[in-house]
Amino acid sequence: MREIKTVLICGFGISGQAAAKLAIAMGMIPVIADERNTPDHLKVFQELQQKRPEAKAFFNWNGNTPLPPCDLIVVSPGIRKNSALFIAAEKMKNQTTTMLSELEFALKCLKKPFAAITGTNGKTTTTELTTALLQANGVRAESSGNIGTALSECVLRTFTGEIDFLVIETSSFQLENIQTFPPCPAAILNLAGDHIDRHGSMEEYAKTKFRLITETMSPENRIINTSLLPYLKKFLPETAVTLFSANDPSADLSLQNEMICFRNKVLLDTRTTELHGIHNIENMMAALALLRAVKGEMALFSPETAQALRSFRSSPHRVECFAERNGIRYINDSKATNPHAVNAAVQMYGNGKNLHILLGGLDKGMDFHELEVSFPAIRKAYLFGSCRESLQKTLENKVEYELFDSFQEAVYAACSNALSEECVMLSPATASMDMFKNYAERGDKFKEFVLNFLNTH
Ligand code: ADP
Repeated sequence: MREIKTVLICGFGISGQAAAKLAIAMGMIPVIADERNTPDHLKVFQELQQKRPEAKAFFNWNGNTPLPPCDLIVVSPGIRKNSALFIAAEKMKNQTTTMLSELEFALKCLKKPFAAITGTNGKTTTTELTTALLQANGVRAESSGNIGTALSECVLRTFTGEIDFLVIETSSFQLENIQTFPPCPAAILNLAGDHIDRHGSMEEYAKTKFRLITETMSPENRIINTSLLPYLKKFLPETAVTLFSANDPSADLSLQNEMICFRNKVLLDTRTTELHGIHNIENMMAALALLRAVKGEMALFSPETAQALRSFRSSPHRVECFAERNGIRYINDSKATNPHAVNAAVQMYGNGKNLHILLGGLDKGMDFHELEVSFPAIRKAYLFGSCRESLQKTLENKVEYELFDSFQEAVYAACSNALSEECVMLSPATASMDMFKNYAERGDKFKEFVLNFLNTH
């Protein structure tokens, strides 16, 4: 990066605070602007000022105070493009002042190697698994990006020598706001209809995800699911890649008789792992392909790799079977925020018409027709949240359903109707923010209501 003296940090949440600390570690002076002012803001800012007394802060910024000139602008992911702060920052952009997202700023400061993962679903699971595989093979790796810890925070930890390698989960929103993503081992897991509201069309959405894959990278570093070959042909024709797929036996990583194979050599019996479902098999394959890109082919066959795959468990709220009573299983899949993820859960637990499924949440204009492949497995759907009427239209005359105003009532109704050999499943197909803080709160409430029901009936 050219010499930068002052950096304007827009937004002082988790990412902005980490970016400000990173800026100081890079010898820069942070100037912070945030529309809010919280005790936490002040406390963190005072700590920053102890390290860099020239640091400035504009809290409660409302557009009236001019922001001082600076060499670089870093925008936190939470800053909306229509906010006064973003608009003011955009106006300050010129030939000498560039504007970067927090992720791109952190990437520019990063001196250690890294890998990146994107896709509609499975990013978090695959990122955590790749980190676990690298760690098992002696790399001091850590997960970062969209996953919770700001990249700037992890980059700082690479300076202190705690971390040697970062596995970065990247959403399409982050990729959209980045000018160039440096070449690195990168995997695109899958692509399905989600966020089309923001990207305009499936092709634009795919193009954003494909920004991770470039011509300058080696084929080992370009990792995609076989189902994405049509996009590859369109965006990067004649480009060699590493393919993985549970449905394509000719892929580099394939599934044969329940065994994950690399070019026909058996790596692992999938029945010995705690990751269930075809979708998780593909997540394992993508993580293995990334391991190969970083540590070479031999690492695929190491006993440490097999052990790490066997002991890995996905985080809560992802097709999590948390209770079983009288032959009925209760599954929390609150992280399923699009139909593609719901279909993965239904493929795992659907068996005849055995599912009582809770669907619904924030209405983001999503097309639910992709759910149709799951219809044969649904005994009854319990629709809640602001998108319940658009779900109703998709289900009409095809699946039995009932509408609910309250989430608790929907859960109780599903629990009352379920019979032995059936499942009660929250796999909502959309985001949670109309009724809950986030998907985790929705999943926790679901579990609480189910367990209350089971204790009182
Ligand atoms: P992300 O970080 O992309 O949201 P997660 O690993 O948190 O991915 O999983 C989100 C949801 O997607 C969960 O419901 C999970 O069961 C489902 N899922 C995970 N991997 C896949 C996949 N490869 N294909 C389809 N659905 C998946």
